[in-house]
Amino acid sequence: MQLLIDWLNRNRICKCETCKTELNVYSYLSGESLILYCVACNEYFYREDPSSPINKYKVPEGLLKQWAMDPYNSYYKGLPISEAYEPKWIRFLRKLSRYRKPN
Ligand SMILES: [Zn+2]
Repeated sequence: MQLLIDWLNRNRICKCETCKTELNVYSYLSGESLILYCVACNEYFYREDPSSPINKYKVPEGLLKQWAMDPYNSYYKGLPISEAYEPKWIRFLRKLSRYRKPN
């Protein structure tokens, strides 16, 4: 099931160009711009809108301070980009596949 979901989401997946890990949506900014995060490299990226290229991003001091003030931030890694934007019916499949996983 996971393979099917990955295949359905293939057009929405954005990968880190260094390590090919799928990037997570870390923070939503104004308009359609996003801060993306690579868990493996611990690097941040910036995307202006869905059609623009993804560039490495140096997070401004002020924003880092703001994140540091949030006690949950150290646990927060964001959501994989394909999952953040997947249509509802795929999300439903994903939930179903998790539900069926044996404990
Ligand atoms: Zn990476």
